[in-house]
Amino acid sequence: MEQQADVVFRGGYLVTLDDERRVFTNGHLAVQGNRIVSIGPDAEWRGQAGRSIDARGKVIMPGLVNAHNHLDQIVCRARMDDLPSAGAMSAFAHDQINLWKHAGAEVTATILRLHLLDLLKGGTTAVHDQHFTNIPGENIEGVLGALEESGMRALVSRCHLSEPAMVPAEAIESVDTVLKEVERLRARWKSTRIEVTASPINPSWVATGEELVELREGVRAIGAPFDIDLSGDLWRETFRARGIAGGAVEYCARLGILDDQTLGGKSFQMLPYEYEIWADLGVKACMVPLGRMYREHGPALHHFLAVGVVPGLGTDAPNSHPTTSLWEVMRLCLVGTATRKLAERLAGDPQDADVTPTTETVLEMATIAGARALFLDPAVNGLAIGRAADLIVVDTDRPAFSPRFDNRRLLSSLVWCTEAPMIDLVMVDGTILIENGRSTVWDEEQVIAEAEAAAKMLFEKAGNDRLLPPRLPGQEYRGWKYF
Ligand SMILES: [Zn+2]
Repeated sequence: MEQQADVVFRGGYLVTLDDERRVFTNGHLAVQGNRIVSIGPDAEWRGQAGRSIDARGKVIMPGLVNAHNHLDQIVCRARMDDLPSAGAMSAFAHDQINLWKHAGAEVTATILRLHLLDLLKGGTTAVHDQHFTNIPGENIEGVLGALEESGMRALVSRCHLSEPAMVPAEAIESVDTVLKEVERLRARWKSTRIEVTASPINPSWVATGEELVELREGVRAIGAPFDIDLSGDLWRETFRARGIAGGAVEYCARLGILDDQTLGGKSFQMLPYEYEIWADLGVKACMVPLGRMYREHGPALHHFLAVGVVPGLGTDAPNSHPTTSLWEVMRLCLVGTATRKLAERLAGDPQDADVTPTTETVLEMATIAGARALFLDPAVNGLAIGRAADLIVVDTDRPAFSPRFDNRRLLSSLVWCTEAPMIDLVMVDGTILIENGRSTVWDEEQVIAEAEAAAKMLFEKAGNDRLLPPRLPGQEYRGWKYF
């Protein structure tokens, strides 16, 4: 019988990331509704499609998954570059909560659209969000509304804050209040594309271990996955003040709040024995390579791989990592892991030195490992018949990808040379969201202009103008003069 399809891509280089890691060097891929209905060598396409897309000279692969982020922080993009050092995290939390007090749902959605558009244009089809700016409470409606509009997939965590040393008193809530709010948000926004849960951000943003347990139990009862940032060093002081020794992973494992329905984010500066604990509990992982450049000597990907854990990848908030590009993050992950290994060797303690991640490793991390980490629909799992039609088309018919020696170096160039403008088409759940590099959902110029105006308004109302670097005409900054 002839295969019926809505769309067929013909003649592309298909990087499927399916269970057998097949690559079709001259392939076809057909989509009907929201599923892939045919995939294989181009010559084997026998069907009728409403639309045929010429994919010669292009790579077709699963969409990228950004597995750690704080979406509203796009408003502070590149902030970290202003600072001589990372700055105090509690001061940053106060600053963010104070800033977003002036937002509301509409302003939040306006700023979020900019971030989501930027992500989509870089080939990202699913994203994570830990949302902690909950004054006013309606801000998160703007987050979820913009996500719904965008057509992307998402895991959104409505955060619970209660540590007085970290956040202002007015932002402190009870676990019960947060869980009720999460149930309300799920009733309104949860769909096949969007999952909503509660998160403590990091264990140190919540005042007690009892509260962490209460939150974990509540999330379990709701039937949602749990999301917790498991970085170590920033918080060790808070732990010590509470009389807790050891690392964040060890502490949370002891509390019984980590399991295979948990996403463990970031994992900065873990203690050497904590990777085994992580693997034994089956916790999903996500690495944030740029943050690790600031906090330590690069990501410890080799330690995760050594215990059989393949983490997803995230940018983290754009205030610290100004790019939204997972291509950049893949590269940083490879460079950073090499730096980390060198640092361990120089320190005379080379652990797992024989484990070397490759371009194939980071492509897997940025796609299917990220999908697992965000607990997306299990059908989002590489390109194969019956799987979700979440895919991107990269135009590789450019100088950046040559010479390619009959495509034997194409995958390496894909990781090292791809930039957002090379993304031709983005499809999520069978719907084309980017075509010829442009949004099919939004007027791009309008999204940018409205976000600029909203960001300016927020900064003015909160008095954050004083934080912006003096680079206006007539000003001087870091020895450079502006006219
Ligand atoms: Zn984060």
